[in-house]
Amino acid sequence: MDTVSILDRKPGLIDPFGRAVTYLRVSVTDRCDFRCVYCMSEHMTFLPKQDLLTLEELDRLCSVFIARGVRKLRITGGEPLVRKNILWLFRALSRHLDAGTLDELTLTTNGSQLAKYAADLKACGVERINLSLDTLDPQKFKAITRWGDLDTVLAGLAAAERAGLKVKINTVALKGVNEAELADLIRFAHGRGADLTFIETMPLGDIEADRTDQYLPLSIVRARLLDTFSLEDIAYRTGGPARYVRVKETGGRLGFITPMTHNFCESCNRVRLTCTGTLYMCLGQDDAADLRAPLRASPDDGVVAEAIEAAIARKPKGHDFIIDRTTRKPAVARHMSVTGG
Ligand code: SAM
Ligand code: SF4
Repeated sequence: MDTVSILDRKPGLIDPFGRAVTYLRVSVTDRCDFRCVYCMSEHMTFLPKQDLLTLEELDRLCSVFIARGVRKLRITGGEPLVRKNILWLFRALSRHLDAGTLDELTLTTNGSQLAKYAADLKACGVERINLSLDTLDPQKFKAITRWGDLDTVLAGLAAAERAGLKVKINTVALKGVNEAELADLIRFAHGRGADLTFIETMPLGDIEADRTDQYLPLSIVRARLLDTFSLEDIAYRTGGPARYVRVKETGGRLGFITPMTHNFCESCNRVRLTCTGTLYMCLGQDDAADLRAPLRASPDDGVVAEAIEAAIARKPKGHDFIIDRTTRKPAVARHMSVTGG
């Protein structure tokens, strides 16, 4: 019997606050074909390619997490679909879906490559995806993403729908940029049967802009939406931090992710792995564990599992994000594209 199956008989990954860690987000690359203003600076320095885990190493690491009780994997980045040969990883990980040891394999994408990959992703057992879309205005889309093209993303969305992928659209609420458009985005998403989630900007990594200029509290958004829509709180959860309402006029679901105005850490079930094998136990804290060293040091998965357990034993209670005029520095220095959204 190999070491993972011995460890497998222990209870899953439980942190010091009794929370079971069942959800792993994996950033497979820090690179991206967009430069969204709230996420990256225009001139980013990316990691040298040799620092990245290979796809085989990512597969091995994810498989150890699954053996230790992770039931949901989200592949993210950077833009996950720009990583070379990324379908190999999806195909490899799909064996855990087939075996019933993984409930969900999913991804978060900017949609730029979806037209090419949607059908293959579906064939790998991906059922749902998160698509980031902050505006329906082509000029604003260019202004927000700097390098992106709205039509390409909309073609990607259409391809995902044709392939039978369930799409959730994520929109970062940006003061003075898309705040007047949020009702239209609700109608757009719900009109195509997609859920929509609004997200507050988080202070992650240095960007060129001032974050206080971008930050739009969702408490304000929600209050304003009540002029147009009736919102009914519902118990629906996807395993993520969003709180959902039903929009009576559209019949669709609308989520709010409010790391700034409402702290959702008490029910946190997730950890994040970077493309270099660093495990962050909290998106908003600096403590991390290097899993690449144990992974490369030994072919024994038990060694890796022990390193994971030691890291989970240090998972903090929560983050302390603030954005105000006196705290202009990011709460953590790394960008969202490093830790993975
Ligand atoms: N490139 C993919 C995408 O954009 O969907 C996946 C990675 S991206 C880092 C994941 C999500 O994080 C996106 O929905 C993006 O809008 C969001 N995001 C990036 N930086 C953020 C920030 N500082 N605050 C809040 N959300 C952020
Ligand atoms: Fe790229 Fe996603 Fe960050 Fe935009 S939010 S720059 S698409 S990683």
